[in-house]
Amino acid sequence: MKNRLKDLKKVKSLLVATNNKGKLLEIKKLLPNTINFYSPEDFKLAEPVESGKTFEANAIIKARYCAERSKLISLSDDSGLEVLALKGRPGIYSARWAGKSKNFDTAIKKVFLELKKKKKLNKSNKARFYCSLAIAWPDGKCKTFSGTVNGKISLISKGKKGFGYDPIFIAQGYKKTFGEISPDLKDKISHRYKAFSKIKRFFRYAK
Ligand code: IMP
Repeated sequence: MKNRLKDLKKVKSLLVATNNKGKLLEIKKLLPNTINFYSPEDFKLAEPVESGKTFEANAIIKARYCAERSKLISLSDDSGLEVLALKGRPGIYSARWAGKSKNFDTAIKKVFLELKKKKKLNKSNKARFYCSLAIAWPDGKCKTFSGTVNGKISLISKGKKGFGYDPIFIAQGYKKTFGEISPDLKDKISHRYKAFSKIKRFFRYAK
């Protein structure tokens, strides 16, 4: 792996394997602005089937798919919300709960509905966001990094900032949802930030 880290010193171009605009924005902010970023669209890549059973497995599927086809080092993010009272759901199905139209009002309603069904919609609903990042090289090699942020589900959806489930997630030690706090603050405490801090040393030399 040491040689691979050295290889990354030369990284000038990186394909970020996501079509999720919210994620892309956060990922770009967390990496040096000297990198030329590419998207799956630039190579007319379809979305691979996320057939993995874990965040890591799905992150690897997405990163490898893009790296093999674009011949660029590719970085993917597979992430989601895990609600304790729902036994970790939506978990790897976080995006799928929003349906084909990717409507997160629908996904959020489903979280509340499922909690109500279990009579568990209360003030202390423990939850966490989990993020798995995978970096894949065109030859198929891959490495993953993970990060989590613990918190709880808000009783009502609040705030228009962020994306996805941000309006219903309150991080431990905070009173406001991710949808209400500033993007800069979210970038300092999020699951994505924590996973990125583990790969930062890779990219520190990329300039
Ligand atoms: P996937 O990783 O593309 O399968 O999608 C993960 C889904 O989890 C996203 O579409 C969001 O709904 C949700 N998610 C992941 N990270 C965040 C976050 O930082 N805030 C809110 N929702 C998130």
